[in-house]
Amino acid sequence: MTQPGATGRDGARPLEVAIVGGGMTGLALAVGLLRRKVRFTIYERAAGFGELGVGIHFTPNAERAMAALDPRVLQSYVDVANHAAGGFLSFVDGFHEPEQAGDPGEPAEDLMFQLRVGEGYKACRRSQFVDQIIQHVPRECVHFNKNLRSVEEGDGGARAVLNFQDGSSAEADVGSRLPLNHFTVPRLMRVVVVVGCDGIRSQVRAAMFGSGPSSPRAQYSHQLAYRGLVPLDAATAALGPSKTTRAMGHLGPGAFVLSIPLVGANVIHVEAFVIDPNEWPEVSTGSDTKRYVLPATRDEVVSAFAGFGPTVRAIASLLPEKLHKWAVFDMLDAPAPSYARGRLCLAGDAAHASTPNQGGGAGSGMEDALVLAELLAAVAVADGGGVVAEALRVYSEVRYERSQWLVTSSRRVGELFTWGDARYGSDKDKIWREIESRSHQLWDHDTDAMVRDALATLHSRLHVSGLGCQG
Ligand SMILES: Cc1cc2nc3c(=O)[nH]c(=O)nc-3n(C[C@H](O)[C@H](O)[C@H](O)COP(=O)(O)OP(=O)(O)OC[C@H]3O[C@@H](n4cnc5c(N)ncnc54)[C@H](O)[C@@H]3O)c2cc1C
Repeated sequence: MTQPGATGRDGARPLEVAIVGGGMTGLALAVGLLRRKVRFTIYERAAGFGELGVGIHFTPNAERAMAALDPRVLQSYVDVANHAAGGFLSFVDGFHEPEQAGDPGEPAEDLMFQLRVGEGYKACRRSQFVDQIIQHVPRECVHFNKNLRSVEEGDGGARAVLNFQDGSSAEADVGSRLPLNHFTVPRLMRVVVVVGCDGIRSQVRAAMFGSGPSSPRAQYSHQLAYRGLVPLDAATAALGPSKTTRAMGHLGPGAFVLSIPLVGANVIHVEAFVIDPNEWPEVSTGSDTKRYVLPATRDEVVSAFAGFGPTVRAIASLLPEKLHKWAVFDMLDAPAPSYARGRLCLAGDAAHASTPNQGGGAGSGMEDALVLAELLAAVAVADGGGVVAEALRVYSEVRYERSQWLVTSSRRVGELFTWGDARYGSDKDKIWREIESRSHQLWDHDTDAMVRDALATLHSRLHVSGLGCQG
């Protein structure tokens, strides 16, 4: 697989996109650009692609964005996803459950509400999704072990140099007529647009808005997640099939558990969320993973959920003895003022990290990737940095309000799941009504209209300013 070598109008050089970070957002964007014949390079700090964490679910809006990016992006998920029995995500009161509820075959439960997600709830292991999607990214377009350290800008924003930890650089310079990807000069690689898909500690964001205490940043949301896999057979023996074939949320005060069967892998993916009043411990290490993912034990989970009903306690006791806990970071309190500046922009968690309570964070990155891919394709062979900067401005405007809404809404859903709103308490009708409405606001978004709006806005701006772009 090679990238198309499109040349611009009148021999103008085509756009080159530097994607910093090869997580789910960066990879989806890469496939979307490839489909639209826009050249790109991924700079990833790790030695290979891989996903931390266990399972992932995409909401219907995300699925539509993935299909529009390139049907192969959606297929990468569908091919490895497991469907939960009944198609629903069932939320139960996991706290006031009678003690006999754990008897196999006799599941007593207090159903609070059910969410029917799209065609039916499904989820997959993250690593399997990534293994699929990377098959569509040409290997020569990826540079591993490229840990972005800084971005230097010059010539009034006309140049940007990406400096990596290993001493190499990549330069963005629209004025140059040197060949793209000029790898014969080993320490200098040429790029034009920089998309920061580099997650919660984004260096591209730091380059755009600074990294001081008042700069936009992701912070501990005071929610943590113990994540692990439970063998399906053992869970079925303990809880009976009805609780182990359905995707379930077990709600309670200050904490909740999601148990999602991944039947193909013969496991249940468990995420046990706890509202944590403490600060996340500062770990002095260069590695994000070690900072935000700390070792934990099954005993910790068992004790955190000791006051819950028998189903939740049984799930906790089936977790592996050693597992990990994730700090959940979001940008609620220090949002980025915009997602674009000059020829730099942000996508995915780098732009708007949110808590995972609506299962929408990665999906929001898919929506970003779709709008960006479409806008960049529209200006791919236009001359001049002004056109590209205008496209990125439109991208930011189109994506800002909705993605910021998700950050706020996801926090609110976490509050409702953990019965943290004193006006609602554990009142299932009130909780259900609000969650249903927020869920539909997320799922029912018209992604086609979002793209149409973005392109129409871009064309009218360029028309007014006298700048051109691909029709
Ligand atoms: C517990 C939990 C459960 C979740 N469940 C869901 C769910 O079910 N559905 C959903 O839609 N979302 C979910 N999310 C959110 C989802 O995980 C994130 O939104 C998504 O992973 C963000 O992807 P990304 O590619 O934007 O960022 P990341 O996944 O953080 O990827 C960033 C990439 O950039 C690289 N990188 C970082 N810094 C640099 C640098 N300086 N130079 C070069 N490369 C760099 C990293 O190595 C990484 O590969 C969940 C989140 C959590 C915490």
